[in-house]
Amino acid sequence: MDPHLLRNLHGPEALRARLEGEGVSRTTLSFYRYVRLNEVDRLRDALYAEWKALGVLGRVYIAPEGINAQVSVPTAELERFRQALDAREAFALVPWKIAVEDDGRSFLKLIVRVKKKIVADGLADDAFDVTNVGAHLDAKSFNRKMEEGALVIDLRNNYECLIGHFEGAYLPKADTFRGAIEEVVEMLRQQPARVPDQGARSVDPLRAPKHGEGGPGRSDPAPEILLYCTGGIRCEKASAYLRHQGFTKVGQLHGGIIDYARQIKAQGLPSRYKGQNFVFDERLAERITDDVVSSCMQCGTPCDRITNCHEATCNMLLVQCEACAANFADCCSPSCREIHQLPIEAQRAWRKGRSTRSTKTKAINDPESLRRRIREEEELLALNGTLHPELTTLISEHPYGREISRPHQ
Ligand SMILES: [Zn+2]
Ligand SMILES: [Zn+2]
Repeated sequence: MDPHLLRNLHGPEALRARLEGEGVSRTTLSFYRYVRLNEVDRLRDALYAEWKALGVLGRVYIAPEGINAQVSVPTAELERFRQALDAREAFALVPWKIAVEDDGRSFLKLIVRVKKKIVADGLADDAFDVTNVGAHLDAKSFNRKMEEGALVIDLRNNYECLIGHFEGAYLPKADTFRGAIEEVVEMLRQQPARVPDQGARSVDPLRAPKHGEGGPGRSDPAPEILLYCTGGIRCEKASAYLRHQGFTKVGQLHGGIIDYARQIKAQGLPSRYKGQNFVFDERLAERITDDVVSSCMQCGTPCDRITNCHEATCNMLLVQCEACAANFADCCSPSCREIHQLPIEAQRAWRKGRSTRSTKTKAINDPESLRRRIREEEELLALNGTLHPELTTLISEHPYGREISRPHQ
């Protein structure tokens, strides 16, 4: 196949315009399956050609261990997409999760990528039995077990938990899956023993007792552990890992938050998940309930509007209210605002040689330090008129320099 056909040749603006102009109703859905796949490179080319022909957009990872797909399919082609999947033995009858909130613009292009693993979990798969997964629970039984006092654990990264989560869930501070699961194991280990007994410190109250372990307090039943994530895929690995670590009563939300939302809607159940569900496409989030569980990182008012700092080298993920968005020109700080308000050519010149790596998680666990930085920067700005003295050189060295007017307070 002509390798050029496998690439998307248009920039994001052109793609967005084309998507808005196509006037086609789209359905956002996701699916994954752990299944042995052979000749993944050839499979990748075949899937790309097949799905491209149906107008499918999205992000798909395939690996020798399986497939993980988030796609947007023209609603009129859903049936044919289903047939195309079912025609392949490896993907036959793979369950779909359809997004509840969908304006059809979740993805701008189709990317099918070959990966080592379908989830970058950082876990050594050969060190534990990945098929020994926890019990799959539907929305109704998940709710019931929550009412019975199960310990609910969010297995997403800190920035995903921020704008929505299950009531009372443990929310990891880590910003990677590997980090989150290690933090969870640590947290479970440190759950206080039911009786104050220094000698029993090494005894894990939540683990099934082995011979020679136990002692006072062991008769207390360990609470059931309930895991959840966006679409269920991370729980497959995590539940197997926790079981390997000795935690036996592990349940997981089947189909994740995405399918939970669909089930509670279809069955008229109360949603114990509050707020929005962070998703990995253009939408950033889909609303599950009207509850606002987070606050603006810049001013602290209740808010769950999630966005990225518009200064391209920063790109920090942040929760930002409308008033702060206006005040900071969609940026995280006065420093980024000063750059972002320069003419585009000057921004490009300034960006040269700077990393555009996202610093998405910096402020999430510590919004107070972001607020402190903002206060300090505002003071400096008032004092010096700029937070970027280096701009003076940049402006004098460039022909468009005369056109640059510094944003003033
Ligand atoms: Zn604000
Ligand atoms: Zn920024």
